[in-house]
Amino acid sequence: MSIIYQPAGKAREYSPKACNIYLQCTHNCKYCYAPKAMQRNPENYFVTNPQPRIGIIEHLKKELGKTRITEQVLLSFIGDCYCETADNSETVRQALELFLAHKTPVAILTKGGARCLKHLDLFKRFGEHIQIGATLTFNDEAKSLEWESGAATPNDRLATLKTLHENGIRTFASFEPVIEPNESLELMRRTIADNSVDVYKVGKLNNYMGIDKTIDWTDFLKKTVELLRGANKAFYIKYDLRAAAPSVKLYGNEVLSDEHNVY
Ligand code: SF4
Repeated sequence: MSIIYQPAGKAREYSPKACNIYLQCTHNCKYCYAPKAMQRNPENYFVTNPQPRIGIIEHLKKELGKTRITEQVLLSFIGDCYCETADNSETVRQALELFLAHKTPVAILTKGGARCLKHLDLFKRFGEHIQIGATLTFNDEAKSLEWESGAATPNDRLATLKTLHENGIRTFASFEPVIEPNESLELMRRTIADNSVDVYKVGKLNNYMGIDKTIDWTDFLKKTVELLRGANKAFYIKYDLRAAAPSVKLYGNEVLSDEHNVY
């Protein structure tokens, strides 16, 4: 299998291409799908100090040397580039240097907060061909710690988005999963007040401990749309949320997933 691949199924909504540099994570999100997707025991996935995939930089060099990839590559679906990796994310730096040299557009989605800022200079060199996003789940720090015990705090993630945005980096926020709608809506309000996010991508919680069945998704989507349209923000509503709230009318790029990619 190629190191740069086309995500299948629901993952395709995130990006036309993806690349996973680590296959483990220190963020310990309760809802993480990765161990199941990789048919691994959680103990083999949630570890301290994940190592980069063996030979990944050599593989990337070969793949990028063969074909020019012009579609956005997302880092990453498995693992998080800016969790507490064994190499302090040095392999991410090397991969980004390669993507930059080969003019490959990149999106990075992380819950690592300020850990990504060690690569800020490199992000700047991409210009408009990179976007950096944070998954925003809970505004309440105690809830965030309960659900994503190894990830950065909400305040750290929000401050990092602001720093990135102030440095001219295109930013996005991913609201998936939505576990408590009011928490997600408050995070949207805070990022709007900060003017720190360029694009919002909003989904829902799916099939997790029955919690998703207790949520009024129509009410959540109505409030989301009102908030984001009112702030004149670009946003994309994911398929599962649209399907759970079909009475809410959406238009144009609000339902076009590739509209918000970088090129
Ligand atoms: S950050 Fe992503 S890969 Fe890491 S534990 Fe959380 S959901 Fe899983």
